[in-house]
Amino acid sequence: MPMPMPRILIVAPNWIGDTLLAQPLFARLHQRFQSLTLDVLAPAWTAPVLARMPEVSEVIETPFVHGPLQWRERWRLGRALRARSYDTAIVLPNSFKSALVPFFADIPLRAGYVGESRYGLLNVLHKLDARRLPLMSERYAQLADKPREPIHRPLPRPTLTVDQANLLITVGRLGLDRSRPVAVLCPGAEYGPAKRWPEEHFAALARSLGVQGYSVWLLGGPGDRAVGDAIAAQSGGAAVNCCGRTDIASAIDLMSAAEVVVTNDSGLMHVAAALGRPIVALYGSSSSEHTPPLSDTARLLKLDGLECSPCYKRQCPLGHFRCMRELTPRRVLAEINELG
Ligand code: SF4
Repeated sequence: MPMPMPRILIVAPNWIGDTLLAQPLFARLHQRFQSLTLDVLAPAWTAPVLARMPEVSEVIETPFVHGPLQWRERWRLGRALRARSYDTAIVLPNSFKSALVPFFADIPLRAGYVGESRYGLLNVLHKLDARRLPLMSERYAQLADKPREPIHRPLPRPTLTVDQANLLITVGRLGLDRSRPVAVLCPGAEYGPAKRWPEEHFAALARSLGVQGYSVWLLGGPGDRAVGDAIAAQSGGAAVNCCGRTDIASAIDLMSAAEVVVTNDSGLMHVAAALGRPIVALYGSSSSEHTPPLSDTARLLKLDGLECSPCYKRQCPLGHFRCMRELTPRRVLAEINELG
């Protein structure tokens, strides 16, 4: 008798970076289960990233907004998903509400960390051992196995597919120059300004890269458009602002053309890692301890010997913002040139 095909529903994180850090879990599930159907429930802003993961069968966009419980909407979605007959759900966020849809969908096995006391909502409960699993990607990957089972290291690396036709179309639409090596700069970081390298530093770096023969593209979302405009203006024409002028899928495709990516600690840093691009990642108020880019070609830059760092604040509580201000464009340029 043929074995039934396993069907798993993942409830994805809400951030692009965390979504990429979950990809080793997806790969591990495919290693464990042959002919797996792996669907992912995700918000609209991370869905295009998931659609570029070869492990994902289907992305189901959630209609939820940040904040409210939206009990009725979750119940409706759960009821609608019953027809899909999933055997297992794996819930990656720790919130109570994120575990509601698999419960309402009557999925027999519902796995995740205890999080916000999700006893009953989940029935395969993992307790986080932060010392054994220091990395976010390891914590997610553990959910492929039984609680407390050792995870399989090394973890598979995230990998995104690239749409070459869309890359050509986007380059043409934005009038970008690909005749020279491309440097992509990512000046945004949704978490807050304390994670953002100053715009004048980005502009100075863009000028230097222009002199070295690079075509410099600024990538980011609609919220980064103003800072992108400021950098482009200060760069004396060296940088082209693409922030907010592409959707996420096109940003992925543009980034795939980069010889080097210079980025804050942001979702796009993890996108660059999944595309195998050489990265110079700039850390200010945050640390790479739990969520480093999963990449062999990333250089992580941080100002040494600063007692207040990392503070993990969204805004600099001391006002001087030395962690980023004193990370100079000259030092970043030296790292780029060492990357070869
Ligand atoms: S307190 Fe220190 S680490 Fe935090 S933002 Fe300010 S300078 Fe950076």
